[in-house]
Amino acid sequence: MKVYKFGGASVKDAAGVRNLRDIVLGESDLFIIVSAMGKTTNALEGVFQAMQQGDESLALERIDASYAYHRTIIDDLMGADITIEQVDKLFEQLRNTVRNTIYRSSDAELWYDTIVAFGELVSTTIISNYLNGHGVSNHWVDMRRAFITEQRHKDANVNLEATAVRLKREIEGSNATVFVGQGFIGGAPDGTTTTLGREGSDYSAAIVANVLDAESMSVWKDVDGILNADPKIFPDARKIERLSYTDTIEMAYSGAQIIHPKTIKPLEAKRIPLYVRPFGNKHASGSAITGDVERAYEPIMIQKSQVLLNLHSRDLSFVLEEKFAKVFTTLDSHRIRINLVHNSAVNLYIAVDASWHIDDAVSELAAEGFDVEKIEDVEMVTIRYYTDELYHRYAFDERIIIKQTTPHSLRFVRTK
Ligand code: ASP
Ligand code: MG
Repeated sequence: MKVYKFGGASVKDAAGVRNLRDIVLGESDLFIIVSAMGKTTNALEGVFQAMQQGDESLALERIDASYAYHRTIIDDLMGADITIEQVDKLFEQLRNTVRNTIYRSSDAELWYDTIVAFGELVSTTIISNYLNGHGVSNHWVDMRRAFITEQRHKDANVNLEATAVRLKREIEGSNATVFVGQGFIGGAPDGTTTTLGREGSDYSAAIVANVLDAESMSVWKDVDGILNADPKIFPDARKIERLSYTDTIEMAYSGAQIIHPKTIKPLEAKRIPLYVRPFGNKHASGSAITGDVERAYEPIMIQKSQVLLNLHSRDLSFVLEEKFAKVFTTLDSHRIRINLVHNSAVNLYIAVDASWHIDDAVSELAAEGFDVEKIEDVEMVTIRYYTDELYHRYAFDERIIIKQTTPHSLRFVRTK
């Protein structure tokens, strides 16, 4: 089995869907994971926000806009007189969710997941239908049933053991050799829909690859492969041919947009190679991430937006280990992702990803005896395998608040 993953940008219009079909035509033993089309997840977040504000008509208006967008793609692919009944049904379910839900803020994450999951349900329904009519017969997999996640919404981890049983049963029960499933979504033990975190489709594909012992996983993207830097920020960015799992995970963790950070572990566990390949050219080499590469030979530069927390212990007791434990446990209980830590006797700086829960965590820490300053609009820059020249070019910026170096990497947090 091979696993192919197509992100939202690769299926944002009919041309993208046709291109997907050209890539998969003639393949068998293939599991295709697809994201929501284009910017659909953002649009559905807008539906959720309208629901949150109690504005039902705005929510319905936004659903209609999303329907119209998908309708344009269907018209172009199959003709304006064709309706895909399942797509219309999905939109009707979505409208009913908005109409019938009595929204309570304590259930915000449940409703968020329920609503945004429609993006992937719709995209895979359209694509599976189109492929079935155009030479690629396939079986549509409902990942809400096939992926069992933990009982947590908006950023759920997948339970590998439970998922293996379900997913294999699904595959074995079908005589298809090509499967189409949604990225990003799963189902909780209580039967509700969960999502795996924004951009989580890569992680979905990696779980499928792990569970089915795939020979490889390919991510088809609108770039030539993995670059050693974001060309918008660092002008001399170049493509990396081969990369280790460790360098890739470090890049992803530091904020490289190329692959979701959770993707690597399930692949590495079974030494499954990951290819990042250009959507526009099936035969180009892209970048290969495998177990037999040692390290990248080019410096890798990554930049990521952060929120910086500066904690000051009121009783001057940061030297006590239990204080550290308290802080990390509190952040962890809110699933706040920590990227960089810097401490002195009385101060602790922590750079974290933006999250809905930071203010709650800050109030809890305040109650524990910390003065907490929250500094927004900062960014973390990581230069892995930095050179002297790069060090001198970047490390003396007066906007830098924290700077850390190890033999392999230079990392700093600076104001934007
Ligand atoms: N559609 C989801 C998102 O945009 C998941 C993904 O694209 O990987 O976040
Ligand atoms: Mg997406």
